[in-house]
Amino acid sequence: MAQKKDYYEVLGVSKTATEDELKKAYRKLAIQYHPDKNPGDKVAEEKFKEIAEAYGVLSDAEKRQRYDQFGHQGMGGAGGFGGAGVNMEDIFSSVFGDDSPFGSFFGGGGRRSSGGQPVRKGSDLRIKLKLDLEEIANGVEKKIKVKRYVSCNTCSGNGSKNGNSLKTCTTCNGNGQIRKVVSTMLGQMVSTSTCHTCQGEGKVIVDRCETCFGEGRVLNEDLISIKIPAGVGEGMQLSMTGKGNVPTRGGVAGDLLIVIEEEEHAELKRDGSNIIYDLKLNFADAVLGKEAEIPTIGGKVKITIKAGTQPGEVLRLKGKGLKDINSYGVGDQLVHVNIYTPTTVNSEERGILEKLREAPNFQPRATKNDKNFFDRMKDFFH
Ligand SMILES: [Zn+2]
Ligand SMILES: [Zn+2]
Repeated sequence: MAQKKDYYEVLGVSKTATEDELKKAYRKLAIQYHPDKNPGDKVAEEKFKEIAEAYGVLSDAEKRQRYDQFGHQGMGGAGGFGGAGVNMEDIFSSVFGDDSPFGSFFGGGGRRSSGGQPVRKGSDLRIKLKLDLEEIANGVEKKIKVKRYVSCNTCSGNGSKNGNSLKTCTTCNGNGQIRKVVSTMLGQMVSTSTCHTCQGEGKVIVDRCETCFGEGRVLNEDLISIKIPAGVGEGMQLSMTGKGNVPTRGGVAGDLLIVIEEEEHAELKRDGSNIIYDLKLNFADAVLGKEAEIPTIGGKVKITIKAGTQPGEVLRLKGKGLKDINSYGVGDQLVHVNIYTPTTVNSEERGILEKLREAPNFQPRATKNDKNFFDRMKDFFH
């Protein structure tokens, strides 16, 4: 799959563009690339779709925030998850309303099947999924129980007894819609409305299915397997197309939206793709050096504390962080060194410390290695 273009670039606006600026930019481009103006031009059509998708995401505050934070990955699209969830027709009519400069490009049927009946979509389901740092680091396959409406097996989802007790609606003759011709001063006008007898379904049930009482769907507990890619973060949303609720009496299932929650680790903290660990070091160990055992995501590891280690030093364990979900990079574990100062001492300890207090090597002095915190950070990242 080709790399997706930045949504802001597609619309030719800055990252700080206001709602109004977005709308203006979209309006202008949508008119320019509209298929009615560029008949048969595939490039223009693709461009038109791209513009609609970009505007669909950026004009929705929640989606825009997610996009700003996670890029295209945050919108789904990778690893079998759904796309950005943009409906072109909705987008177009939300901006142009009734004064669209174009005819019925969408034919008023952007979401209709070939039979003329609207394809109905069930509601989306949203669940929270708590992951620990280990699972986030490695990616994980989770099996979760989801209560969702599924199609009734007894009636194959149409709600009638044994699936075959339906008849064509006589009010609308199976069209689902009623056309009325009204004479006005301007001439004859045709209006259409949804048929009330069949609620637009075109068919009515003679005898109801006894399993689902005519609903065409039943509540079921499904065991759903979800693959979570490595490196996801708090609040990130993944979507599984078609794993939401099935609507009543036939149609397409909605989506299952999975919102990631991060469980806090007892000792490790996450900072983007890096892991931070605060190491409390015994004063004597800092002076003499030692092997220390510290926790990492993969388990405990031994690291060498050099003699003369200073408080505030940051040790880097390369590659011991998290995968970056937007690239192939891997973060590091940063070990922040703190020196532990005892708050009470016994008389023996006091005696030793009194001697050390006067010892020549214990007098603070500036050395050429003595750098302040910011200098050290600079070293560290270069
Ligand atoms: Zn049924
Ligand atoms: Zn009807």
